[in-house]
Amino acid sequence: MSVAEAIKVTKFSELAFEEKLDRLAEVAVRVGLGLQAGQELIMSAPMEALPLVRRITEHAYKAGALLVTTFYSDDPSVLARYEYGPDASFDFAPTWLQDGIAAGFRSGAARLAIAGANPALLAKQDPAKVSRANIAMSKASKPAMELITRHEINWTIVACATPEWAKLVFPGEPVDVTVAKLWEAIFVASRVNVDDPVVEWQQHGGRLKKRVDMLNAKRYSALHFKSPVTDLTVGLADDHLWAGGGTTAGNGVYCQPNIPTEECFTTPHKDRVNGTVKASKPLSHQGTLIENISVRFENGKIVEAKATAGEDVLNRLISTDDGARRLGEVALVPHGSPIAQSGVLFWNTLFDENAASHIALGQAYSTCIIGGEKMDGAALAALGANESLIHVDWMIGSGEMDVDGIAADGTAEPLMRKGEWV
Ligand code: ZN
Ligand code: ZN
Repeated sequence: MSVAEAIKVTKFSELAFEEKLDRLAEVAVRVGLGLQAGQELIMSAPMEALPLVRRITEHAYKAGALLVTTFYSDDPSVLARYEYGPDASFDFAPTWLQDGIAAGFRSGAARLAIAGANPALLAKQDPAKVSRANIAMSKASKPAMELITRHEINWTIVACATPEWAKLVFPGEPVDVTVAKLWEAIFVASRVNVDDPVVEWQQHGGRLKKRVDMLNAKRYSALHFKSPVTDLTVGLADDHLWAGGGTTAGNGVYCQPNIPTEECFTTPHKDRVNGTVKASKPLSHQGTLIENISVRFENGKIVEAKATAGEDVLNRLISTDDGARRLGEVALVPHGSPIAQSGVLFWNTLFDENAASHIALGQAYSTCIIGGEKMDGAALAALGANESLIHVDWMIGSGEMDVDGIAADGTAEPLMRKGEWV
């Protein structure tokens, strides 16, 4: 085979769908998880993701996985609970199962989640029931989630196009067309549409690391976001640490926790956020679409929250606990990211948060505090890290957003202009 032929064969657009899927699976295992020989893998996936699950399982065993166990979810079965389940069902969660998963993580298992559920699945259900069910699940899964948010284990999330999700992203077209379009958008956003996705991810991770190192060297005390609709000062936690472009988990394995990822993120100070901010994209939260969020912060706390759709869901969300009204993450994403440039609204945080700079309500990442992995809740809170049952990202960046880094002496330095790094 000539060189020209070899290049032609590997051109992404000419690959069969099965081969494209295989590339995503390989990236999930080798880049996302960095799965080690002898490691167990615990996976969660929608039923429709079965072809991707099988490919990932193949790659996992090729990488030496000890055992791959997958838990499937099914949207119609979730709806059946809301239609026919007793009231007590909504305060219940399978703690025994979550404890088992946490035990698996503690004994060395890696975790992979496949996103793909219908983002509007619960839009027509009683928001009180949705909220109660979420709180019950958050409580039950806390031991497992803590191992994930503390990056004690290697974990990642990838996405699978599903018909209901695709219909929402590309409305008004035949379902096979929408699913194919969503798959293409996922492949491009996940950077598998290149000759060697594993090499591409090494380079992409390296570029993100450079930004993170620059931000960590600056030691800003705050960030100032300014656009025609936003004027927000986000104080950063004392001893905050910027992260992005992969992380070495507590078990020593280097992983990319989100595929795709375009963000540099850190921990805000829970008491030092002031001003007004408007979301630049709708937020899809656990089945409901919240549109045109507009919020005012005073000394870290949301004192006013509005939305043109889903306002009741937003209010319930920020009433989950005291920390739900405060920020646990602030992230910078350039407007030139492939996801922003695609112009596609995915109605899924995994993608949409990588299209724009964003903030997250709720739980902070202890890994975004110097030495945070080894601190208890009180020590983290003393530095300004927020604590909550929730962690919900929403997008505030746009092509009109300017961001300044504010030094301890109050001087401002331009970081982003019109959505791009200076
Ligand atoms: Zn983020
Ligand atoms: Zn987040």
